[in-house]
Amino acid sequence: MPAILPKPRSSFAQTLENEGISLRRAEIETLQLNLGKLCNLTCSHCHVNAGPKRKEIMTGETMAKILAWYEEHPIPIVDLTGGAPEMMPHFRDLVDGLKDRNPAARIIDRCNLVILNEPGYEWVGPYLERREIEVVASMPCYSAENVNAQRGDGVFDRSISALKELNVRGFGQGDPKRPLHLVYNPGGAWLPPDQAALEEDYKRELKTHFDITFDRLFALANLPVSRFASYLRRNGEFEEYMELLVSSFNSATVEGLMCRTTLSVDWQGFVYDCDFNQMLGMNLRADDRPLVLWDVDPTSVVGKPIQVGEHCFGCTAGCGSSCGGSLA
Ligand code: SF4
Ligand code: SF4
Repeated sequence: MPAILPKPRSSFAQTLENEGISLRRAEIETLQLNLGKLCNLTCSHCHVNAGPKRKEIMTGETMAKILAWYEEHPIPIVDLTGGAPEMMPHFRDLVDGLKDRNPAARIIDRCNLVILNEPGYEWVGPYLERREIEVVASMPCYSAENVNAQRGDGVFDRSISALKELNVRGFGQGDPKRPLHLVYNPGGAWLPPDQAALEEDYKRELKTHFDITFDRLFALANLPVSRFASYLRRNGEFEEYMELLVSSFNSATVEGLMCRTTLSVDWQGFVYDCDFNQMLGMNLRADDRPLVLWDVDPTSVVGKPIQVGEHCFGCTAGCGSSCGGSLA
């Protein structure tokens, strides 16, 4: 009979143990729904491997089950991501359904901006304005060269045009009903700079050159997962980047890690600790069966341990990284 080897322990788990930290779930504040891998872009840093040819997309049936669950469990923040979440055919039904069940919910659309000016998606700007959706938009730099290198030719100009439209619609002007936040991530294998200083630079440059305003900048690290991991391997930078992340471990970031307060759900309804664990197939399980959202009572996961791996060093390096920016 073959020997059963113990599951290898990640050095991230060992690092937490050495620091005397037990990473466990707190009360769920955010329901993050990844609506699928379909996207109009194919960015080099994408941890979802999203693109225009991907077929994985949430169906109306799955959406209905999620809405039925949400009626029982109106989690205060719902964070819609993808892919391009607006490309899910039932996007508006989903948002309307969430708003009907919890009018006070803070609903976030993780928007790539360019979708606003894709043919057939002219409804996106007016809809986000009417339903008062919080927009968190990818904008990895205020220079055309860097944005186009990471996201594709012409993306910078189209992003600027979408930001101008959002400003005209009242987003990014300090109105709590229509927040507009931008997301920076590095163009390669380095950590983000100081978030507050970078926000000042973004605000100055975008105002001076394009008369664009926004509310906050979130500086995110690139996690060594999916397309960004392949990019690192192709360039022979994977080991060096991991060494940077490991040597930059900052225990002060652990308290704010998003996995402590988030339920991450994929396009089929399966549940994870975060979007990165989702991409790595690290499902929440019970009796060795992957859980779907409608199996989960959010109070029952409080205090449960979180599944970690080497990629987690990307969230704890330096100032830390989460969907809401730096952590320390
Ligand atoms: S990073 Fe965002 S916009 Fe770019 S391909 Fe991935 S999901 Fe699409
Ligand atoms: S990748 Fe980050 S958010 Fe996800 S489980 Fe690891 S530390 Fe938590």
